Amino acid sequence: MRYGKWWVTRRLTFLLILALFLVSARSGVNVLVGNYSGSTFLGVIPAVDPLLAIQSYFATGGLYQTAIIGAVLVGALYLVVGGRAFCGWVCPLGVVVDFANWLSRKLKIKRPFQGFSSSTKYYMMGIVLVGATISGVALYEMYNPVSILHRAILFEGVGIGAVSWMIVGILFLYELGVARSGWCKSLCPQGAFYSTLGKFSLMKVVANEGRGSIPKNIGEVCPEPAALVNILNHERQNGECTLCGACVDYAGNGSLSFTLKPGS
Ligand code: SF4
Repeated sequence: MRYGKWWVTRRLTFLLILALFLVSARSGVNVLVGNYSGSTFLGVIPAVDPLLAIQSYFATGGLYQTAIIGAVLVGALYLVVGGRAFCGWVCPLGVVVDFANWLSRKLKIKRPFQGFSSSTKYYMMGIVLVGATISGVALYEMYNPVSILHRAILFEGVGIGAVSWMIVGILFLYELGVARSGWCKSLCPQGAFYSTLGKFSLMKVVANEGRGSIPKNIGEVCPEPAALVNILNHERQNGECTLCGACVDYAGNGSLSFTLKPGS
């Protein structure tokens, strides 16, 4: 693992967003009020998780105008910066999973399971939407581990319910001892939504011919090896890349880089 400029930038971005949530929640200053599912920036700009908006629509048959605007803004943002940039740069659960993964490597734990196929998360997204339609509420949001973590960090601390901690704990242990990127790559419904956006997003990682060799073991730093293979083969992006920049940092010679351009 090489802690290069993209790793540092990514962590600072995560901390900045978290700090804005914290400051707003604790001080009452309207910078970024809300949570990772729905928030308001500077008191006027709404941001709504598009998957939550779709769930709400399926559940109730309607959406408030603010929710529509917020979901469109968030969708447009990730269409530019990369669908799964949410996973790599913003999601608090991603940090927990990264820590579990780091610990697993340090402790040399042999994880016996490759994880479910990455297409499983699309079925999970389908189940979430069917669940919302049948129940009439955005059911998944009650047990969405991202929302749970947000509540734990900002409001409830250790007072958060045992079931909630159990969900986060199970995901941590699953990553630590069972399967690498077991939740994020294979099972997360939000990951499925953002992967879908990522197939069409402007920001992407590309392999540059003639800029130096790509380290042979580069796959070890990538949480989404299928995305890396995709990039190295100059194939159409499959939307799985989290734009984490680990491969760009690790190569360190310009053979891999971020680029902002339409098309694959
Ligand atoms: S391909 Fe590179 S940027 Fe994308 S997930 Fe893998 S390491 Fe991160």
